[in-house]
Amino acid sequence: MSWIRRDFLIGGASALAYMRGVRINAAPRFPDNPFKLGVASGEPTQDGFVLWTRLAPFPFDEMSGMPLEPVVVEWQVSSDEGMSKVVAKGSTIADPTMGHSIHVEVSGLEPHRYYWYQFRTGSEISPKGRTRTLPMAGGSIDAARIGVVSCQKYEDGYFTGFRHLSREDIDLVVHLGDYIYEKKGKFYKTRTHHGGTCYTLEEYRARYAQYKMDADLQAAHAAHPWAVSFDDHEVVNDYAGADEGNSDPTDEMTYRRTAAYQAYYENMPLRRSAIPNGPYIKLFRRLHFGNLLAINILDTRQYRSEQPCYAGKKVERCDEVFDQKAAMLGKAQEKWLYDGLRSSSTRWNTLAQQVIVAPRQLSENRYSMDKWDGYEIPRRRLIGALGDGHVSNPIILSGDNHRHWVAELRSKPEDQETPVIATEYIGGSIASRGDGSEMTNSGRRILKLNPHFKYFCDQRGYLLCTITPAQWRTDYRIMRYVERPGAPIETRISFVTENGRPGAIQV
Ligand code: FE
Ligand code: CA
Repeated sequence: MSWIRRDFLIGGASALAYMRGVRINAAPRFPDNPFKLGVASGEPTQDGFVLWTRLAPFPFDEMSGMPLEPVVVEWQVSSDEGMSKVVAKGSTIADPTMGHSIHVEVSGLEPHRYYWYQFRTGSEISPKGRTRTLPMAGGSIDAARIGVVSCQKYEDGYFTGFRHLSREDIDLVVHLGDYIYEKKGKFYKTRTHHGGTCYTLEEYRARYAQYKMDADLQAAHAAHPWAVSFDDHEVVNDYAGADEGNSDPTDEMTYRRTAAYQAYYENMPLRRSAIPNGPYIKLFRRLHFGNLLAINILDTRQYRSEQPCYAGKKVERCDEVFDQKAAMLGKAQEKWLYDGLRSSSTRWNTLAQQVIVAPRQLSENRYSMDKWDGYEIPRRRLIGALGDGHVSNPIILSGDNHRHWVAELRSKPEDQETPVIATEYIGGSIASRGDGSEMTNSGRRILKLNPHFKYFCDQRGYLLCTITPAQWRTDYRIMRYVERPGAPIETRISFVTENGRPGAIQV
């Protein structure tokens, strides 16, 4: 079995199992369907992608109903939907130390085309997934289409948006975080979280399992490759990484981050480069769509300093907001980002990140300190980098807020006389906040206080972005309800940014 030996040389967990002399089960038998969590692909490049699944015949049982042994999983990639033209195949090992998840990095394929994939373990065959490679690096392309999602609080609503997303004609889904919510189940919600609040690896694994068993979410994963990043709820609400639990191994937050990041990696179609190292995980990275678009996927949670003046959500800005040492992206990520933006040769340069960048007065002089509003000095550096004339067409994509917004970012963000340097498209949630309504009192107040905000909607949905050399177009795909299943989706409003002219124009 030569493929097994090859895998030992590259797979960390498998190599470990091999050295300990652990038996590898090449013909496993399962008490029930082991593919209940679906299949996924992600991290596309011009010649490949990551294929993901996690074996869990009984997702809420101890070890998810799996034996405490490594299990062989075979995979196949085909250029046709019927799986008859297999262009790549192999075997890998689902190891108990990785929650029996697999992350296969496939390469050597053709650019900019669909592929289909499937797994087999023992006599069990997985559902089929479809994925897509990115266009040739540096090559010219006519258009790219991406879906942008965030915030899927299972308790607040059905994942109808994911069913609609699965049917969109897009190259990639970008997830901006809050894939799970960590809190214990409450009996009065639309749906109920299984189990208590997540602290341990087993608890986070079970929470992901509950979300992953949702058929609509599975459909969106099986239809498109995803590029994911996290926000706070994958660990705990409003945490700030740099100050919490990154050094003391006995600290509760260190323990929790270690468990949460491990479960995150196990459940996402990420590359091996994102395997966590204790309470650390490297998520910031860049995807290229030919010479048209670069997407910088950022991590605004793990390296940030503590929120300033933190006396609740809406506070007046204290001196700490202007702390010279405050961090949002952290030194290494900032350098990587600004170097990358400066040397980028793509027409559009996107920041896919979590919290709102544009200043947003919630009421007279009150701001939310968890957003970039609490981090004025890092924001000035970001604006400096985006607005120095070297970055072609910066576009910011944000999540976290659960409401849809459009904002223009100015060189002095609160001075309406200064030029617009970037456009910010903020996507509402898939489920968080439930049905909601089109306009609210706070929405009306914030639009009035912040003239650089052009749109507000407190209903659920996602962004559909169509990028061409001449124009970036964002369609706001919104549903009227999520607390019952089956809502239709509509393009409620669309905005465009023209090449060379930052700002959002309603069309
Ligand atoms: Fe959220
Ligand atoms: Ca959040």
